[in-house]
Amino acid sequence: MTGRFAPSTTGRAHPGTLLSGLLCWLDARSRGAEVILRLEDLDRMRCAPGLGDMLLRDLEWFGLDWDKEIWQSDLGAQHHAALDSLVASGLLYPCSCSRNEVRARARARAFGGAVYDGRCRHRSLPAGGWRATKDTLRVCLDDQRVEVFDVDGRDLSQNPLREFGDPIVRRRDGVVAYNLAVVVDDQNSGVELVVRGADLAFSTALQVGLHRCLGWSAPRYRHHLLLLQKTGGKLSKSHEDGDTLPVADAVDADPTALCGRIARLAGLVSTDESTTPQKLLETFSWDAVGKEDVVLADDFWARRC
Ligand code: GLU
Repeated sequence: MTGRFAPSTTGRAHPGTLLSGLLCWLDARSRGAEVILRLEDLDRMRCAPGLGDMLLRDLEWFGLDWDKEIWQSDLGAQHHAALDSLVASGLLYPCSCSRNEVRARARARAFGGAVYDGRCRHRSLPAGGWRATKDTLRVCLDDQRVEVFDVDGRDLSQNPLREFGDPIVRRRDGVVAYNLAVVVDDQNSGVELVVRGADLAFSTALQVGLHRCLGWSAPRYRHHLLLLQKTGGKLSKSHEDGDTLPVADAVDADPTALCGRIARLAGLVSTDESTTPQKLLETFSWDAVGKEDVVLADDFWARRC
């Protein structure tokens, strides 16, 4: 059995990163599964050099350890093999529509959002194959509902074609898109249960659809609560405001105190007492973990950790 924590390396860890890492780690360790840290660093614009190493150190500082560390940017050959496989199934096509064109057409047809209308579906790849075009690459999806429930019984079923349109799997800048990379990497690592934040629940049916396009059966999924800013927004690793200070830089930061506070916010313990991931493992059960997102209090950073 294999579990994974797969943070994007867009910045230092914030409390939400640590909560997610902690829950992935506790889930895998409590099942006796191997636990992989996959650093998702494909987006070269957002993942500046050095950020991944800092994130890695923050997680280590917090007390998390891994059986394997994988940098997603080392997995290019596997991502490219998946693109080859999509070509072999006749599902990959080049798309020259700009984001603005896609949006404008979607609005005009009342599709809302940026649902792609499939304008380039008829286009074929050039003679040299997908490697020979700089266009965006998309996957042609069936117009059908993907039935999926996560392990908590949450119904995540959708028709991804209606919800998103044919998804981009390789961007115009050559970067393999998140939705393809995550599917390929979970499959290749043998991850059978994906644990991740509830903000990703909405992409699950699309990812299950992509697993099927590649001839694979999808893993099971569990989506956990999020820690939110007081404005209700997600915490961000780009640390643009005081709510999202890098944890290890907080004044007098002590990882065991911070672990206690995060564990209490998640419902794992009933007091703020200092603790460690290892100690939490002794009594870990998903039954104790809260179902509702938690807003970080104003004084989260003001108190000594
Ligand atoms: N890298 C994604 C993120 O940090 C998570 C990928 C996943 O767990 O599916 O939001």
